[in-house]
Amino acid sequence: MKFKDLCQCYYNLENTQKKLEMVDILAETLAKADEKEIGKISLLTLGKLYPDFVGIELMLAEKMAIKSLALATGKSEKAVQSSLEKIGDLGKTAHNLLENKTQSTLLAFTGQQEIEQYDVLEIWKILDNIAKITGEGSTDKKIRILSGLLSKVTSLEARYISRLIAGNLRTGVAAQLLLEALSKAKTGDRENKEFLERAYNRCSDIEFVSTILYEEGLEVVKQIEVKLFSPIKVMLAQRVSSSEELLERFNGSCSLEYKYDGLRVQIHKKNKDVRLFSRSTENITNQFPDVIQFINDSASKDEFIIEGEIVAFDHEKETILPFQNVSQRKRKHDIDQKISEIPVRVYLFDVLYSDLKSRLDSAYLERRETLKEIIKESNDIRFSHQILAENSDEIDEFFHQAIKDSCEGIMGKSIGEDSVYQAGARGWNWVKYKAGYDAQLSDSFDLVIMGAEYGKGKRAGKYGAFLLGCYDKIEGVYQTFTKIGTGFTDEDLEFFFKELKPLVRDKPKEYQSDIESSIWFDPKIVIEVTGDEITRSRLHSCSRGFMESNLEGLALRFPRFTGRIVDDKAPEQATTNDEIRTIYLKQ
Ligand code: AMP
Repeated sequence: MKFKDLCQCYYNLENTQKKLEMVDILAETLAKADEKEIGKISLLTLGKLYPDFVGIELMLAEKMAIKSLALATGKSEKAVQSSLEKIGDLGKTAHNLLENKTQSTLLAFTGQQEIEQYDVLEIWKILDNIAKITGEGSTDKKIRILSGLLSKVTSLEARYISRLIAGNLRTGVAAQLLLEALSKAKTGDRENKEFLERAYNRCSDIEFVSTILYEEGLEVVKQIEVKLFSPIKVMLAQRVSSSEELLERFNGSCSLEYKYDGLRVQIHKKNKDVRLFSRSTENITNQFPDVIQFINDSASKDEFIIEGEIVAFDHEKETILPFQNVSQRKRKHDIDQKISEIPVRVYLFDVLYSDLKSRLDSAYLERRETLKEIIKESNDIRFSHQILAENSDEIDEFFHQAIKDSCEGIMGKSIGEDSVYQAGARGWNWVKYKAGYDAQLSDSFDLVIMGAEYGKGKRAGKYGAFLLGCYDKIEGVYQTFTKIGTGFTDEDLEFFFKELKPLVRDKPKEYQSDIESSIWFDPKIVIEVTGDEITRSRLHSCSRGFMESNLEGLALRFPRFTGRIVDDKAPEQATTNDEIRTIYLKQ
């Protein structure tokens, strides 16, 4: 497929708001792809060169992109910079600048265009080459290749190449929509998305799933199982707000575990090769060499996938330390120093693969038994503290003990026959019951920063208030839930200003908002927020359409930032409108 045809499809996608229409537009183009290119096309459509867990990203600094554009267009860097500031989007800037250039070139050479017709795979290879250049002089080399490419493509192609190097195509296509379009393109029926999603949740690898679909068909996709070193999308929990409700959810008996306040980790091991993946499937192996050592020391088998929580641990006092400590271990430099400053312990709670078999479909208690055959406990590795409970007094007692032992609360887990591991789902097989903050509402929300207003007075020159939203999984959109300005330290505001500035853009079309924000951002940063109460609101769009009055949505009153940036959750893993509605109905 020619890259320009794919870009035309992206452009058409940008210009429609309706989800079904987007699926049709994308499916029509995907239907023309062959089995050798569909994998890369799928990745590019999500703005990526590789699945997240591979850890190779294109993401060039804005300065490099500006230099490349200046070289490709013959404009000064200053001119490109000011054009970018005016337009606020690298893609549109490239499109405009190159459009002008093409026209003037055409005029000068009477139709002699120097445009090359690139194939999708050729473009992928050039970008991959850029991503992999390292070492001395790498910046110059990257700029040279990129500017060379930009000067040979059409302005529309330049729009999307520029967005690829900024890490976001801005077409509004996320994985769910792509899976639906692939299903329609290859099987003629969007409903078969269910099988593609099942496979994708097992391996987080869109290239692999789409290639199997095109090469071998739907029946083979249905058989895709978990594979080592390809992270499984994690299972998440619904929430409850009392021990009675917890018990009711499980018909009177369940398993309880401590809910540790740390970093979720999925551990894949084959012989000495051990890799760690975060909740959002990123490869975090290099940040925890100590954990790799613990696993190698404690493993009784050579090959498995297990899950647990990494917490910061004070071995002298035998206590778990607050989340803020372990979050400092998520760094790429000075790792050795941090290992001795912040020792960690791993609490394991699940097994997903062992003895060459997927364990996802085994019942929970069976999985826990298997886990014990795989790992020997040590000072550094423990199994999550667990009991079986049959009445709410036992639950309350366990909950209070968990809080005393520095945990966030407890997890209730189904012990029924169908207590399988639901990859990628937030089902009712697991529920979380968390400790209340000192606010009226007993739970917190992980919300996406959608927009901001500039601050005044002490906050001048930074963002002073933020528009936050939840995720609507069915529609694939973000809905506004609250505006927040409380709970931020000066350092927080500095940090957010620096992180959010490169994400500024026009209002994304996947944002459902009646509120006009001064500044909009790409959905990327998720923060934890608590508040006093959820109220009905005509201003906010969260859950609108589900309330008795179609005009009303839900809003969080008196929101406060808890100080926690949830950087291991992708925006699509933020609190959903459904969850918020459930909490509202229980208030
Ligand atoms: P939340 O982040 O509030 O949605 O809660 C779910 C998270 O709790 C999981 O992603 C894990 O990181 C964490 N967690 C802590 N302890 C456990 C446990 N015993 N079982 C499952 N998840 C746990």
